[in-house]
Order: sequence, then structure tokens, then C-alpha cells
Amino acid sequence: MTENPDAVVIGSGPNGLVAANMLADEGWDVLVLEAQPEPGGAVRSGELTKPGFVHDRFSAFYPLAAASPVVRGLHLEDFGLRWRRAPLALAHPTPDGACAVLSTDLDETAASLDNYAPGDGAAWRELYAQWQRAGRHLIDALLTPFPPVRAGGRLAAALGPREWARFARFVLLPVRAMADDSFRGTGGALLLAGNTLHTDLGPEQTLGGMFGWVLASLGQEHGFPVPEGGSSRLTDALVRRLEARGGRVVCSTPVTAIEVRGRRAVAVRTAHGDEIGVRRAVLADVGAPALYGSLVRPEHLPPRILDGMRRFRYDHATVKIDWALDAKVPWSAEPAGRAGTVHLGDSLDHLTEYSAQLVTGHVPARPFVLHRPARAHAADARSRGCQSREWRGERRDGSAAPAADLPAHRRTRASRDTDPRAVPRVGVRPPRRRRARRLRRQRRPRRALRRAPSQGFGVAEYRYPELSDAKTKVTRASPRRRWAGGSGR
Ligand SMILES: Cc1cc2nc3c(=O)[nH]c(=O)nc-3n(C[C@H](O)[C@H](O)[C@H](O)COP(=O)(O)OP(=O)(O)OC[C@H]3O[C@@H](n4cnc5c(N)ncnc54)[C@H](O)[C@@H]3O)c2cc1C
Repeated sequence: MTENPDAVVIGSGPNGLVAANMLADEGWDVLVLEAQPEPGGAVRSGELTKPGFVHDRFSAFYPLAAASPVVRGLHLEDFGLRWRRAPLALAHPTPDGACAVLSTDLDETAASLDNYAPGDGAAWRELYAQWQRAGRHLIDALLTPFPPVRAGGRLAAALGPREWARFARFVLLPVRAMADDSFRGTGGALLLAGNTLHTDLGPEQTLGGMFGWVLASLGQEHGFPVPEGGSSRLTDALVRRLEARGGRVVCSTPVTAIEVRGRRAVAVRTAHGDEIGVRRAVLADVGAPALYGSLVRPEHLPPRILDGMRRFRYDHATVKIDWALDAKVPWSAEPAGRAGTVHLGDSLDHLTEYSAQLVTGHVPARPFVLHRPARAHAADARSRGCQSREWRGERRDGSAAPAADLPAHRRTRASRDTDPRAVPRVGVRPPRRRRARRLRRQRRPRRALRRAPSQGFGVAEYRYPELSDAKTKVTRASPRRRWAGGSGR
């Protein structure tokens, strides 16, 4: 292991870990520095209510991971990840007793929409056929760096010249207009609109229809897959894979600054006072305001970035409530009990009112609710509890674990202090005579760097309501931000 890594990745969220894995695949020595005591960012799970109940702390289901060739190419199943799918990806019951569902069985989805208005099932089949023609290319275009020249070309070829203009209009539509064009009943509209709201766009917003259609079509094709055992299992698999390629994840180590010299990022500083030199790159998997507002000093940034940051806005916050229940939710609509995700919203008008209240700064009188039933994971919870202690550098009995006994990514500052090899220290630039050779070597890996930050993601929770003896309730409010790389929720 060299003293200065080829790349430091700041933040161990899914984007950071995917990027780190791709660089490691190209032979780079990669160090991931994470501020929190455990890796994963918003892809983490743990016991939040009662022992044995594992909750996803933030994100829960990941259809874009199922669709992403990059994530599939990582073969995370070889590192312990097991994807699970509920019998129904999604159910949206309505007060009239009907229920729109999204099932990987197209006939079942269509039949549920025909219950609202005969013919709406056929309308969904048509929308899904359009997805099968163009969806893959559209996803590629959304998830590759801008401008998406090749993916755009493939999309145009798949559609043909006549269809192209119609499709351009289609992707711009607000979800209400898209639903009006396709469906006569409310079921189809709610199915699309609930998915649009996952992406924080309201029913009246441009592009909202396209995002609803993309997510609903992904659910139709792949279901809404979740990692068995909780979302941390996805993170664990990414970390294990990285470590198997020599990469390291060090937690409880916030990065406070990126050092730029000669227009290149050459080192990072940590809150512990270390300066870690990098030979090739610094990747920041952090919010834009943190990157451009504090990590990089303004004199190193182009004026257009600083100007753009003045207009940057985070999405609305999400309020998340975790319950441990003593029985299944007694849904009056039977399909809701078979669904991994249940949307609650009476009508499209209700969802528009809710969105309007959010954008005008009011607490919605009747929120849009996204319900995810959870499964008690007793055995799983025990093993995760043990991991948390390891992440803090402690043994099960509470004593400090020697750094050498810990997996590299779980070495904290405390354990690192007993093992100076765990985190590289002061950055040293390589001697000049080696630089030309190194630059030549960089050419191939740069391809990986360009691809890495924009891969789509998604895996989530799959929890069945086989819940046992608890009635505890906790409430948490989670500020949420949209992932620019294209993840939906
Ligand atoms: C409540 C909620 C529910 C969601 N549900 C879903 C869902 O079901 N499906 C889905 O696909 N998406 C969902 N999302 C969105 C998804 O979780 C995010 O898009 C995704 O986590 C973004 O990944 P990331 O790697 O870009 O960043 P993050 O996951 O935010 O990770 C960033 C990491 O960087 C670390 N970090 C930040 N600054 C520093 C620093 N200075 N030094 C060191 N480390 C630092 C943070 O601690 C964090 O671990 C949800 C998000 C939230 C909040």
C-alpha cells in the first residue's frame, strides 16, 4: 500500500462507493474518507425502534440500481448482497376501495387500472411498450455525462424521425397532462403521479410526467428491489468489494478542505489535522454547497460556479416516521398488504394541493404518504449491532479493538492512532521525473473517472409486515436532497 493514494473519495454514500469501486477496478489505490461513524450516506439501516426491527434510515428501494448496467457490472451479489422483491412493487389504494397496483406481471397492473375505467389497462400497456422501445436509451441519456451525445443518438434511432417530436413533447409534460392524455380513470393518474412525487416534482411541473413514467416503468420491469436485511447490506457489499481490490474506507474522518495547487487538487485536510496527499484525483461525494462553499477555496473556482451556487436550492425536506407495530396494517384494499411500497393520496387534486402547500412554504394539511412495511430481522439486527461497535473501533465487550484486528474501512481515528499505516499522513508530491510516466498511466483510468459520478442508483428496503411484539414509535425528520446523478426515490 502506497503512502499517498491515487484518489481520495470524500464521502461514502452510494455514489462515492460506486466511483471508488470503478477506480479500484482500473488499478487505482483509493481511500474513502467518511465523516460519519459508519459508511453509506443515505443508504443505511439499523435498529431505530425495538431490538430486532431493522429500519432503513433514509432510502429504501432502488429500481435504478436494478436498471444500471454499472451497478449490475459490480456483481455485488458476490459480496453478500441479495436483492428481494415484494409480490407487488407498489399499491395506491383510493378511498372508493379500489387500488391501482404496479406488478411485474403486466396483466395484473393493467387489470387494476381497468377497474377504474375500462381501457386504462390498454393505455398502460401502450405507455409501457413505449418504455420498452425508448426507455433504456432515455435512462442512458439521463445517467451519462452531459451532453449525452451517444445515448441521445441511440434514443433518436430507436424512436425514428416521426416519433421523435411526439416523444419530445411527451417527456416535457407535467404528470397531470400525461395522465389526461392516456387514462380516463384516476388509477392510472395516481400510479404515475405517486412516482413523480418520489422525485420531488409536483403534478403540475414540467418533466414530472416523464419521471413518473420512468419510475413506474422500472417498477413494471424490475419491481422495486430492496437489499435483504436492510439498505446497509448494499453499502456493506460495496465496501467489501472495494476492500477486496485494496481500497480503504475510513470513517469518523470529516474532510475540511481540498488543497488546490497549480489548478490541481493535490491533497485533502481532515478535521483531525491530517493532510493526505493524492496522486491523481479527489472525488467529492458531498452536497454542492459543501464542496463549493467550504471545501474548495473560492479563489480556485470559476466565477460561473460561484454565481451558480448563489441560486442553488435544496429540495423540500422529508419527514420520516419509523414504527414497530404489533400487527400487520389492516388495509381495506387487499393488494396494499402485498406491496413493498404503498402510496396514500386521495386524488390528483389532493397531490396538487399538497405540492402547492409545499412550494408556498406551508405544512401540507394532508400530506402525501409513502408507506413501506418493514420486516423484523432478529438475526440480522444482532450482526449489525456488532458491526456498529466495530465501526467505532470497539470490541463487543466495549474494549478498544487493536486497529490490526479491524477491517480497514472500520478503523476510526482512535484505532488508527495505534496503527499509523491505517491512514496516510502528510501529502508528498511525487518526484518530477516520475510525473511524465504517471501522466501516461492516467489516460486509461480517466475514462473510469468520467463515468463514475453519474451512475444511477437504487436499492432499498424490502420488509414484510410479519411484525411481532412492539408498539414503540419514534419520529425523525430527515432533510433530503435529490441526487443529481438521477436517483429517484
Ligand atoms: C429520507 C430519504 C429517502 C430516500 N429514499 C430513496 C429511495 O428509496 N431510493 C433511492 O434510490 N433514493 C432515495 N433517496 C435518495 C438517495 O438516498 C440519495 O440520492 C443517495 O443517498 C445519494 O447518494 P450520494 O452518494 O450522492 O450521497 P449521500 O448518500 O448523501 O452520501 C454522502 C456521504 O458523504 C459524507 N460526507 C459529507 N461531507 C463530508 C465531508 N466533508 N467529509 C467526509 N464525508 C462527508 C456524508 O456523511 C455521507 O455519508 C432518499 C433520500 C432520503 C434522504
